[in-house]
Amino acid sequence: MSTGAVEPLLREALSTASRAAHLLVACDFDGTLAPIVAHRDDARALTPSLDALGLLTALRDTTVAVVSGRALRDLADVGHLPEGVLLVGSHGAELGDDEPDHDVVARRDALIDAVRSVTAGVDGVDLEPKPAGVAVHVRAAARTDAARVLDALRAGPAQLPGVVALAGKEVLELSVVSADKGAALEVLRRRATATATVFLGDDLTDETAFERLLPGDVGVKVGPGVTGAEHRVPDPHVVADALALLATERAAWLARS
Ligand SMILES: [Mg+2]
Repeated sequence: MSTGAVEPLLREALSTASRAAHLLVACDFDGTLAPIVAHRDDARALTPSLDALGLLTALRDTTVAVVSGRALRDLADVGHLPEGVLLVGSHGAELGDDEPDHDVVARRDALIDAVRSVTAGVDGVDLEPKPAGVAVHVRAAARTDAARVLDALRAGPAQLPGVVALAGKEVLELSVVSADKGAALEVLRRRATATATVFLGDDLTDETAFERLLPGDVGVKVGPGVTGAEHRVPDPHVVADALALLATERAAWLARS
């Protein structure tokens, strides 16, 4: 394990969190556990991060969750996450325990029709249907096309009654239910009866989770950009270092106490 790239202040905060009565470790997937790649089906979590999450889930009084914007089924398919890791999809709209109702499905289908009418025929725009909405990815589109499509989506489908828009990096999410990672984190924390939470994420949508952190919790922003998180790491490789450090310290603490 190399922890040299983990800043001393973050190391200290993780060390303190590792001594919590019940620790919740929650992380985003893309850009956090997995480096960003051109095609999102090819995204894979770094092996050292998977190893660290595996170690953490095996510990008592420790809950591990991955909270992603991806649909839950998609997250399960690409994630290859260790057994025992809780999966939360669609920014918290899919907590893994409830089936979407018929009304949601009907409104989702109408939303997707409206989105298709905007994106039809535009190269490099990729629709990702989800149980309660759709993500429109523009990473592979020409810059002028991307801007035009995003503007048209905001002016059109995003204005449909009950539709919530959420902007990410190179993606606009449109959903017929309101969910955010911050609300999901609250549910996870309550269910786990966590006394300290460590949350790591790289995108705008992770900011809602950073906002909900309490004193003693540890928020880690991955990469550049404005953030409410107290700590920052440059990339998923240092995420792996931080998770490994947390796992090692947590295991040592539990063995002693
Ligand atoms: Mg991300």
